[in-house]
Amino acid sequence: HNYTKDDVRKLVKSEHVNFLRLMFSDLFGTLKNVEVPVSKLDTLLDNQIMFDGSSIEGFVRIQESDMYLHPDLSTFEVFPWSPKDGRTARVICDVYKPDGEPFDGDPRNNLKRVLKDMKKEGYTSFDIGPEPEFFLFKMDENGQPTLNLNDKGSYFDLAPNDMGEDCRRDIVLTLEKMGFDVEAAHHEVAPGQHEIDFKYSDAVNTADNIQTFKLVVKTIARKHGLYATFMPKPLSGINGSGMHINMSLFHDKGNAFYDKNGKFELSKDAFYFLGGILKHARGFTAIGDPIVNSYKRLVPGYEAPTYIAWSPSNRSPLVRVPSARGLTTRLELRSADPTANPYMAIACVLEAGLDGLRNKIKAPKNIDANIYQMNAQQLKENHIYSLPDNLHNAVVALEQDPTMKYALGEKLYSSFIAAKHFEFNSYRTQVSEWEREHYMKKY
Ligand code: GLN
Ligand code: MG
Ligand code: MG
Repeated sequence: HNYTKDDVRKLVKSEHVNFLRLMFSDLFGTLKNVEVPVSKLDTLLDNQIMFDGSSIEGFVRIQESDMYLHPDLSTFEVFPWSPKDGRTARVICDVYKPDGEPFDGDPRNNLKRVLKDMKKEGYTSFDIGPEPEFFLFKMDENGQPTLNLNDKGSYFDLAPNDMGEDCRRDIVLTLEKMGFDVEAAHHEVAPGQHEIDFKYSDAVNTADNIQTFKLVVKTIARKHGLYATFMPKPLSGINGSGMHINMSLFHDKGNAFYDKNGKFELSKDAFYFLGGILKHARGFTAIGDPIVNSYKRLVPGYEAPTYIAWSPSNRSPLVRVPSARGLTTRLELRSADPTANPYMAIACVLEAGLDGLRNKIKAPKNIDANIYQMNAQQLKENHIYSLPDNLHNAVVALEQDPTMKYALGEKLYSSFIAAKHFEFNSYRTQVSEWEREHYMKKY
């Protein structure tokens, strides 16, 4: 929506809104919010709501902690689940410094910066269609998640194998009330696993939608006595949860990836963009797959990619080109998972693609054979390299990629790298059940 301040004032009245939730995302993609009573609406509309940024992950030092929230009025939305006597609406905000400049540690501001670069290069829009997957676990009587999945269903199953049906329908209805255009919702391959796809939109809008989506899924699941998790691999031995990123680039003549006379009906731009994506695939991985557990998903045998390759037909490689052409010509990046900070992930894939366009990076030949059946020699002959296999190696690859550094800006980049080294080290120094099971008696 293109709401003016007055529109918002009117909506707040007509919807009987009592509370405003001001939202933004931290470095780790965690949605943060502060609630103010509706009496503060004018302060908000004047960009005068202040908060202490020093306690937000990846934000600022104590000495410079005053931050201002500038509401993006187009994101005003009433929470359909909020009670009648505590009607709550949210608005997503950009974080500004006291000097009136956008704060560069705010991932949403940073994405807007990269989009500005894109516009300077003559492109009009970068559209993203995400495919987030998640698991539904039963909760115990204290509202804590158990390890029991809510059903034994599989891909596209119906009830009673799909016991998440009612919950999923309720999620979809709530999303629709919040302005989402839901394209498809279905049971995924693993038991208890689901996917809901919503319509592509421009980069900032989609990143906002992903954040809202996760909040809605968790909130509505809870009402059904279920715990929704976007953790990429909650259980070993079955598929994990990814978040495929479908992307298309536009110029004023339409979809820049489409050329009906090109190879596979793809344009030169599409191949350069793809070249950039593949070149920076290793550097991007820490951003798309940012937690220790992400790398338990990126293993062979569970429909998640482990090698850097692309194909117009095969579904296993890192980048697939779905068969749609014309306006919906797109590249589908399959490595990312739903724990990625969507603002940072989208900024990075865009910058990778722009690097490909600027430097005319040639995409390697498409690989249509099953990569998982190739031996080391065949992989080498086809120039197929692996994605990083753990968070540490992914962060090292990120440290070696100046394009990704540029995509994130100095502040987000250095905070992220420091935090992720710390996270991996904390994991590395723990002794796990697996080790005791395998070594205690043997040695
Ligand atoms: N769950 C798979 C993954 O980890 C994807 C499955 C699918 O959507 N085909 O990426
Ligand atoms: Mg899927
Ligand atoms: Mg997909």
